[in-house]
Amino acid sequence: MSYKKIVMRRNKQIALVAHDNKKRDLVEWARFNRNLLAQHRLYATGTTGTILAEELELEILKLQSGPLGGDQQVGAKIAEGEIDFLIFFWDPLEPQPHDPDVKALLRMAGVWNIPVACNRASADFMISSPLMDKDYERLVPDYEVHRTRKVVIAG
Ligand code: PGA
Repeated sequence: MSYKKIVMRRNKQIALVAHDNKKRDLVEWARFNRNLLAQHRLYATGTTGTILAEELELEILKLQSGPLGGDQQVGAKIAEGEIDFLIFFWDPLEPQPHDPDVKALLRMAGVWNIPVACNRASADFMISSPLMDKDYERLVPDYEVHRTRKVVIAG
């Protein structure tokens, strides 16, 4: 398989999402890392964004609340190349009304090979990476074959 390089600039476009039982975790993590986060452009799903904007006093681009389509909006922005870094503290112990959207969002992160942290420990490792501080060439499979594929329709 061939790959394309997509440059992630030093200033990243970070999406922050937390399910209700994980919001405290995210707020504590974000408070601790406030000054690092302040160097990037921040997005969040609705309720997460409202809490974080208040706690951090940073500008956060708020999307819809998760159950109302916010996760899908984040996924769409990943596909469009607008978001390139995902902190998503999803709840492993409670089903969500929008579980299909959660799966779809994680799938988009996989398709586009963006860094994704699903819990506090991985978020700690990710944000303290030396790669945070520089441009990074992300390898994304060359999806041309999907874009140009022909389907034979019988009849
Ligand atoms: P919320 O959505 O930030 O609006 O709570 C998060 C989610 O459940 O995906």
